[in-house]
Amino acid sequence: MSRFFSEKYKSLVPYVPGEQPKTQKYIKLNTNESPFPPSEKACEYAKREAEKLELYSDPECSDLVKAAAEHFGISENEIIFTNGSDEILNFAFMAFCDEAHPAVFPDITYGFYPVFSALNNVPFEEIPLNDDFTVNVDAFCGVRKTVFIANPNAPTGIALSLSDIEKIVKSNSRNVVVIDEAYVDFGAESAVKLVHKYDNLLVTQTFSKSRSMAGARLGFGIANENIIRDLNTVKYSTNPYNVNRMTMAAGVGAILDNEYFENNCKKIAKVRDYTSEKLKQLGFTVTESKANFLFAKSGDIDGGTLYLKLREKGFLVRHFDKERLRDYNRITVGTKEQMDALLNAVKEIKEELR
Ligand SMILES: *Cc1c(COP(=O)(O)O)cnc(C)c1O
Repeated sequence: MSRFFSEKYKSLVPYVPGEQPKTQKYIKLNTNESPFPPSEKACEYAKREAEKLELYSDPECSDLVKAAAEHFGISENEIIFTNGSDEILNFAFMAFCDEAHPAVFPDITYGFYPVFSALNNVPFEEIPLNDDFTVNVDAFCGVRKTVFIANPNAPTGIALSLSDIEKIVKSNSRNVVVIDEAYVDFGAESAVKLVHKYDNLLVTQTFSKSRSMAGARLGFGIANENIIRDLNTVKYSTNPYNVNRMTMAAGVGAILDNEYFENNCKKIAKVRDYTSEKLKQLGFTVTESKANFLFAKSGDIDGGTLYLKLREKGFLVRHFDKERLRDYNRITVGTKEQMDALLNAVKEIKEELR
């Protein structure tokens, strides 16, 4: 720390992203990226746009907004695009949380929520997940705080039903409820269809996982037009050109190539359920994931050891050294071939440790 660092950030503990190895020597199952390339149309559009990089990008993201509004059946003033969905989550903390409106989220969820709280000087409450790792829905009803729920949740992969989400949104009509749907395309029900019914609901999604565009950084929020206006006030006060030209064009291509996207989601869901079954046969406890990752605990190897042993064999998975999570590993769902290789490695490790 330099002697110049502002007092307000001195105790800030930043988010720790999953490792991005510089070499190809690992099968990378640690940051929930897609094993499939982006849509060809997305790449083609991005390449064309690269020739216009001398010009600023469109701050209104007009083409993208138009395509997305049509795709989701909403109006163009009910959506905002951001630099990854991490950015819109930060905007939501900036816009809708303060001393009088603390944040509330589950104790086990996306690790960025407490970081955004700290960054923006927002007090927060963590509501413990139930023993089976499900979200305690009743505890989130009428909390009078700004609610953040990832659905499906991370790193458990467990999804809430749309009726449970609606219950939470309805009972918190005086506060904004943010539903982070980073993984919704892999099998959960989206709350987008509730935005015309509730003016306090903000749904966020990302192109990082289901649309194979983690490196492009594209996320968005869908909500009532007044919420979107507030988020735009924050956006235009930080960086009006938050989505770059190539990413914007790629986003349009990806939305137009809907079949490719849907097929990939289906493939991943199928491989996920297959891998889950196989892990259970090897004695693992696996949560019921509706996301593109599995959260699994071996009956006999602790999570930290399995993480290291898999690493030695060339597989990167995620281990969280945190109470209640320590026994588990979060494994991104890759291709069937990658999962079979992983299952073999797990078998070998089990034998080696016997
Ligand atoms: C990956 C992820 C995000 C954000 O991803 P971006 O790449 O910034 O769009 C948001 N929420 C959860 C729960 C995630 O896992």
